[in-house]
Amino acid sequence: MPSSLRSCQLAVVGGGIGGLAAALAAARAGRTVTLVERASRFGEIGAGLQLAPNASLALEELGVLADVQRTAVTPPRLVMMDAVSGAQVTELDLRSRAYQERFRHPYLVTHRTDLHAALLAACEAHPLVTLHTGRTVTRADQDGSGVRLHFEETHEVLTAAAVVAADGLRSRLRRALVGDGDPVCSRYVAYRGALPTDRMTDRMSRHAQSGAVMVWAGPRAHLVQYPVRKGELYNQVAVFESDHYTPDSDDWGTEAELEERFAGACRAVRDALPLVSRDRRWPLFDRPPLDTWVHGRIALLGDAAHPMLQYLAQGACQALEDATALGHALGESADPANAFAAYAGRRRERAALIQTNARRFGEICHLEGEGAALRNTLLGSRSPHAFDDISWVWTPAARTVAAIA
Ligand SMILES: Cc1cc2nc3c(=O)[nH]c(=O)nc-3n(C[C@H](O)[C@H](O)[C@H](O)COP(=O)(O)OP(=O)(O)OC[C@H]3O[C@@H](n4cnc5c(N)ncnc54)[C@H](O)[C@@H]3O)c2cc1C
Repeated sequence: MPSSLRSCQLAVVGGGIGGLAAALAAARAGRTVTLVERASRFGEIGAGLQLAPNASLALEELGVLADVQRTAVTPPRLVMMDAVSGAQVTELDLRSRAYQERFRHPYLVTHRTDLHAALLAACEAHPLVTLHTGRTVTRADQDGSGVRLHFEETHEVLTAAAVVAADGLRSRLRRALVGDGDPVCSRYVAYRGALPTDRMTDRMSRHAQSGAVMVWAGPRAHLVQYPVRKGELYNQVAVFESDHYTPDSDDWGTEAELEERFAGACRAVRDALPLVSRDRRWPLFDRPPLDTWVHGRIALLGDAAHPMLQYLAQGACQALEDATALGHALGESADPANAFAAYAGRRRERAALIQTNARRFGEICHLEGEGAALRNTLLGSRSPHAFDDISWVWTPAARTVAAIA
């Protein structure tokens, strides 16, 4: 990997899923791209990711869908269970004709590392992309002709005609440009990880063995389960609200609270809980939608632009949509300012809607008592082939417009 920084048409800050996808999309639109990542090695965490058909479409446009599908799983169903009673609430049939006709692209579940590796390999193979690790951007200075990026580890400066800030939830560039402070903590925390499936077999419910995505919705808590890496690994995410949240402290959302919160759950959930990874806890954050994604020659992308709670499983999907929209915009206009304006114009409203609805879906998922009973009755009356409620989330805006027109 080259160590000196060459000036480029587009610099991308951050080598997560959003940054790599953006670099690839821009290179495919003919731009020279330099991506800088602060970590010493590229990588992702050891957990799963759901990729709805809007993400599959974006991956196809980026030329990496086939590579991702080599290891991803295509689950037959999305199932919501009541975590207390153990009864099924509702399900969506992801292999039905209704699904195929409406979405045309697969619903996938994958290991994050596998998706990240596919995007990284495509970037490495592209002659217009240069990748650097161990480069933490500390500052961006811009004028009418370009942007200069400064780093923690070196006095070198990277000069670019324009910059995409894909530096995640705690984006330093967003902080400098927007100044809207820290992300909002939801008081919920996640424990997650993927373990070899053979460790699960004795305890897996019949639903889990079917390869479905299982969401066990309970009072102020839920458990998500699905297979990844062609079924070799089983991903589990346990999420709950802590009663002991304190800002600026890590002393809340503990393992003891996890056990306590799930104590009233049904047998299948309680059996799965000891096998949920405890290596690390993830407090869950979002922000309200942002009106302006573009600041001069710098555009925000992915979690830096629209961090959202994970309840609709759309954060990475939206970052992938951002990337393809950016690629289209760069292909249409040589002027980065025009391209960034077109990119933000196409993406901002849709991402904002998904951000706000992710919060609402979390509230529905975590209802208790009569609220939960009403939810179960309403959702329970739906057919597994009824995609109307979720269709707008899984259908990128351009295609929705095309479908209406
Ligand atoms: C529990 C949980 C479950 C989720 N499940 C799903 C799901 O099923 N489906 C889905 O679509 N989404 C899901 N998400 C959301 C998804 O993980 C994120 O939205 C997505 O990973 C964001 O990607 P990103 O590239 O924008 O940001 P990040 O992945 O945060 O990448 C940012 C990168 O920038 C680098 N960086 C940061 N600062 C600097 C700097 N100053 N200089 C250089 N580099 C820097 C970081 O090291 C990192 O590599 C989930 C999230 C959580 C918490």
